[in-house]
Amino acid sequence: MKSKLGGIGKLTDKVTDKLAGYYGTTVRRFVEKTGGDKSKIAELESEIMASYLHVTSSDTDQRHLKCPQGKECWCFYNRALANNKTPPSHNTMRERIHINSKEDSRQ
Ligand SMILES: [Zn+2]
Repeated sequence: MKSKLGGIGKLTDKVTDKLAGYYGTTVRRFVEKTGGDKSKIAELESEIMASYLHVTSSDTDQRHLKCPQGKECWCFYNRALANNKTPPSHNTMRERIHINSKEDSRQ
Protein backbone atom coordinates (compact mmCIF):
# COMPACT_ATOMS: atom_id res chain seq x y z
CA MET A 1 0.00 0.00 0.00
CA LYS A 2 1.49 3.31 -1.04
CA SER A 3 1.08 6.06 1.50
CA LYS A 4 0.43 9.69 0.72
CA LEU A 5 3.14 10.80 3.14
CA GLY A 6 6.25 10.46 0.94
CA GLY A 7 7.91 13.18 -1.10
CA ILE A 8 10.90 15.45 -1.12
CA GLY A 9 12.00 16.14 2.44
CA LYS A 10 9.68 13.44 3.78
CA LEU A 11 10.05 9.76 4.49
CA THR A 12 9.28 7.61 1.48
CA ASP A 13 7.38 4.34 1.70
CA LYS A 14 10.62 2.43 1.14
CA VAL A 15 12.44 4.23 3.96
CA THR A 16 9.43 3.81 6.23
CA ASP A 17 9.36 0.07 5.49
CA LYS A 18 13.11 -0.23 6.15
CA LEU A 19 12.83 1.58 9.48
CA ALA A 20 9.87 -0.59 10.49
CA GLY A 21 11.94 -3.68 9.64
CA TYR A 22 14.89 -2.51 11.73
CA TYR A 23 12.65 -1.65 14.67
CA GLY A 24 10.94 -5.03 14.40
CA THR A 25 14.31 -6.78 14.49
CA THR A 26 15.34 -4.70 17.50
CA VAL A 27 12.12 -5.49 19.38
CA ARG A 28 12.45 -9.23 18.66
CA ARG A 29 16.11 -9.18 19.78
CA PHE A 30 15.01 -7.39 23.00
CA VAL A 31 12.30 -9.97 23.69
CA GLU A 32 14.77 -12.83 23.13
CA LYS A 33 17.28 -11.19 25.46
CA THR A 34 14.92 -10.11 28.26
CA GLY A 35 11.90 -12.37 27.84
CA GLY A 36 9.88 -9.22 27.11
CA ASP A 37 10.50 -7.76 30.55
CA LYS A 38 8.59 -4.44 30.55
CA SER A 39 10.70 -3.14 33.41
CA LYS A 40 13.54 -2.90 30.88
CA ILE A 41 11.60 -0.86 28.32
CA ALA A 42 14.10 2.02 28.58
CA GLU A 43 16.72 -0.42 27.29
CA LEU A 44 14.49 -1.17 24.28
CA GLU A 45 14.06 2.54 23.58
CA SER A 46 17.82 2.98 23.65
CA GLU A 47 18.33 0.02 21.30
CA ILE A 48 15.75 1.35 18.84
CA MET A 49 17.52 4.71 18.84
CA ALA A 50 20.84 2.91 18.30
CA SER A 51 19.35 1.08 15.32
CA TYR A 52 18.08 4.34 13.81
CA LEU A 53 21.36 6.17 14.33
CA HIS A 54 23.35 3.22 12.95
CA VAL A 55 21.47 2.93 9.66
CA THR A 56 21.53 6.68 9.11
CA SER A 57 25.31 7.00 9.63
CA SER A 58 27.69 7.97 6.88
CA ASP A 59 31.43 8.38 6.49
CA THR A 60 31.07 12.08 7.28
CA ASP A 61 28.48 11.58 10.04
CA GLN A 62 29.26 8.50 12.13
CA ARG A 63 26.39 7.98 14.57
CA HIS A 64 27.44 4.80 16.41
CA LEU A 65 27.59 6.17 19.96
CA LYS A 66 24.53 4.16 21.06
CA CYS A 67 25.53 1.02 19.14
CA PRO A 68 26.84 -1.93 21.15
CA GLN A 69 30.58 -2.10 21.78
CA GLY A 70 32.89 -5.09 21.54
CA LYS A 71 34.80 -7.37 19.24
CA GLU A 72 31.71 -9.35 18.25
CA CYS A 73 28.97 -6.72 18.35
CA TRP A 74 26.57 -6.33 15.39
CA CYS A 75 27.80 -2.79 14.62
CA PHE A 76 30.52 -3.11 11.97
CA TYR A 77 31.95 0.28 12.91
CA ASN A 78 32.34 -0.36 16.65
CA ARG A 79 33.41 -3.96 15.98
CA ALA A 80 36.27 -2.72 13.77
CA LEU A 81 37.37 -0.23 16.43
CA ALA A 82 37.26 -2.92 19.14
CA ASN A 83 39.49 -5.09 16.96
CA ASN A 84 41.94 -2.21 16.43
CA LYS A 85 41.02 -1.97 12.75
CA THR A 86 40.01 0.97 10.63
CA PRO A 87 36.25 0.84 10.13
CA PRO A 88 35.27 0.24 6.51
CA SER A 89 33.40 2.87 4.56
CA HIS A 90 29.70 3.20 5.27
CA ASN A 91 29.22 2.69 1.54
CA THR A 92 29.82 -1.03 2.22
CA MET A 93 26.80 -1.25 4.55
CA ARG A 94 24.18 -3.71 3.29
CA GLU A 95 21.39 -1.54 4.61
CA ARG A 96 21.71 2.18 4.95
CA ILE A 97 19.26 5.03 4.97
CA HIS A 98 20.23 8.43 3.67
CA ILE A 99 17.94 10.30 5.99
CA ASN A 100 19.93 13.51 6.07
CA SER A 101 20.58 14.08 2.41
CA LYS A 102 18.82 14.46 -0.89
CA GLU A 103 19.49 10.75 -1.44
CA ASP A 104 16.58 9.88 0.87
CA SER A 105 14.11 10.88 -1.81
CA ARG A 106 15.52 8.11 -4.06
CA GLN A 107 15.06 5.30 -1.50
ZN1 LIG B 1 26.64 1.27 14.58
